[in-house]
Amino acid sequence: GKGRRLVATRNIREGVTLLMEEPISHATRIDFRLKRCEWCLSSKQPIKRCSKCKLIGYCSRNCQVAAWKAYHKHECKCMVGLPKRLERLPATALIAGRIILAGLSSGTDAKLPEISKSSPMEKGLAKVGKKAKIRDISLLDTLWEKKATEKKMYYAQQAMTLMNYLKPAIASLTSAPTANNMAALLSLLDANSYVITDPEMDSIACGVYSVLSMINHSCSPNAIVMFRNKTGQLRTVKSIKKGEEICVSYLDLISTPRERRRNLLEQYHFECQCSRCAIFFHEKKIKMSADESMDEKLSKLLEGKEKSLEKVKSSLEAAKLGPSDSKRALSLSRQALSEAKAVCGPYHAYVIRAYKQIWKQAMYASEMEISWEYGRKTLPLLEFVYNSPNPVYAADILFHARVCWYLQKVEEALEYYKKAAKVLKITHGEEDKMTKECHERICVAQAEIAAKAQALQ
Ligand SMILES: [Zn+2]
Ligand SMILES: [Zn+2]
Ligand SMILES: [Zn+2]
Repeated sequence: GKGRRLVATRNIREGVTLLMEEPISHATRIDFRLKRCEWCLSSKQPIKRCSKCKLIGYCSRNCQVAAWKAYHKHECKCMVGLPKRLERLPATALIAGRIILAGLSSGTDAKLPEISKSSPMEKGLAKVGKKAKIRDISLLDTLWEKKATEKKMYYAQQAMTLMNYLKPAIASLTSAPTANNMAALLSLLDANSYVITDPEMDSIACGVYSVLSMINHSCSPNAIVMFRNKTGQLRTVKSIKKGEEICVSYLDLISTPRERRRNLLEQYHFECQCSRCAIFFHEKKIKMSADESMDEKLSKLLEGKEKSLEKVKSSLEAAKLGPSDSKRALSLSRQALSEAKAVCGPYHAYVIRAYKQIWKQAMYASEMEISWEYGRKTLPLLEFVYNSPNPVYAADILFHARVCWYLQKVEEALEYYKKAAKVLKITHGEEDKMTKECHERICVAQAEIAAKAQALQ
């Protein structure tokens, strides 16, 4: 958001961890619930279910006790009463609930004079929140006012579900949060929470952080946020000069400038002024003013193009099926690719998305040769999209290296393990398991190639 920013106080090189932070509140995403410890997010098996609600699980007794004390004592009561169809609550709803319920466990807010009101929501944020977050409460209403009616309706509906879910814990309170409070909280969480990824870049959970939420956005970021279980790490991916602002990207960067602009406006209420957006929209403006004399025929043509682009986008979305439906997904994605190629240039975000979808879906469908073919087609396009080291890109290069290795294309595997190691070193760090995997494979591949060369002599 505006006003809060993080600035480098010294020159910093790339690949450095600037800070580590624990979340104010967090929750697993639906697909990873019961596969990860709800408290520490570790995947250490077995994950034991809470014996009462059976809806969440923990890796250890310690984690269970910590969660119980923090919020689950109240949350469990709410979960036990859930009808079957509501059992799969989205992470944001769980987080909102936890923030509110944490307030019920706290005794007094005397130590926090900044908080004037004492509804459970404010107590909740005060109890778990650090200073930066507490100030956000006053922002709640102003941001809320900026929302489009359509969005407000959406959050109002979510708030009703949340209200019903929390009823067993808050029904008897005299100053329970209102549906309006909850709607505003949910929209605040949408704009301020991070998707927590594991090193392979699977989205396992969501979390709200204090300092990390103050970092502004750029489509050409000089930093990234990585996670070790639930601990957030701010890492540099470019060398940063003293006085320069530190920015991360809030968005999936495989998107068109217009998509980026729309997302940022709708969800975060600002217009991106980064160099990439500035160049694009500046050029557009010049073109637009030259186009004012444009005849009707041409404007109809452009409108038609806009419509075909929308169609490509929905074809791409329709092809996103689960791993169990991977064969059908693969053929739908191929169809989407030919649609995209018919209306977009070769570096258009939709073409790149289609390539990437086919690449990954082919692997799930055990079509390894197809996956390999699309991996080598997609990676150069991704290199064009990310103009700074990006963790998703790093994981993608490693993905292709593994496919090459599996198909016993040793020389190509070596090339991509080397490429992956170079990016992973910056994004994930030298100590990461994936970086180490690269170094090990590079050694083995080099030895194999040398042995083969010797055998040929
Ligand atoms: Zn745990
Ligand atoms: Zn429980
Ligand atoms: Zn931008």
